[in-house]
Amino acid sequence: MNFVDTHCHIQEPTYPDPEGAYQRALDVGVSAMLCVGTDFSSSQQAILFAAAHPAAWASVGIHPHEAKEGTKALDQLTKLLAVEKEKPKSKVVAIGECGLDYFYNHSSKIDQIAVLRSQIELAIRYDKALIFHIRDAFDDFWPIFDEYKDLRGAVHSFTDSQANLDKLIERGLYMGVNGIMTFTKHAWQQSLIKTAPLDRIILETDAPFLTPVPHRGTVNEPARVLQVANFLASIRDESLEDIAAITTHNARQIFFN
Ligand SMILES: [Zn+2]
Repeated sequence: MNFVDTHCHIQEPTYPDPEGAYQRALDVGVSAMLCVGTDFSSSQQAILFAAAHPAAWASVGIHPHEAKEGTKALDQLTKLLAVEKEKPKSKVVAIGECGLDYFYNHSSKIDQIAVLRSQIELAIRYDKALIFHIRDAFDDFWPIFDEYKDLRGAVHSFTDSQANLDKLIERGLYMGVNGIMTFTKHAWQQSLIKTAPLDRIILETDAPFLTPVPHRGTVNEPARVLQVANFLASIRDESLEDIAAITTHNARQIFFN
């Protein structure tokens, strides 16, 4: 069996044991892990990590929390993508995580929206997928998303309403499912993944965060995508083989096509 962790941060210098985590992921059948940037320096680190590890890939972007650094970080990101474009084997497959976070509001809404738009435009210009981080902000997100055509990508760590899940599916986006679903106290969140079409689901860990049951209290790592897959299989009453095959196929469609 074969799994893809579509969202992790093991390239960060603060991550405790990236080499061990990488190896353990390979050992359980993770064939690809996508290292996601949240600012310019973590995006650079994602590129370096991916260059040194055959199964690692990079997404470069500015998290909505960092949107106040907007203009400077966007300039740096644009230059980075121009350099990547010239590489014969760039491992940058996506832009993100980018989006809107009105739960924390670490940056103003105006800055968040501007930086989101610029990143969508970069994804179009460089033909990359998008990894969205949207929290308590779908009402502002959909009208922006709908202004653009032919975007591909995922909403990572989706735990919002069924209505927003329906909108995501209508738009051809994918739902990133992680350890939250194994420990949430909200049955309605779990019901989202019971009925969502499997051909719209991708797996992720968000390592080092959101460690799934039964490993709560430890640092999360890409190998734990297996626990997410197992949980999904049991709640949907489907085989682990089907979950692995279809979510891996989905991830390849978006990122590695
Ligand atoms: Zn993340």
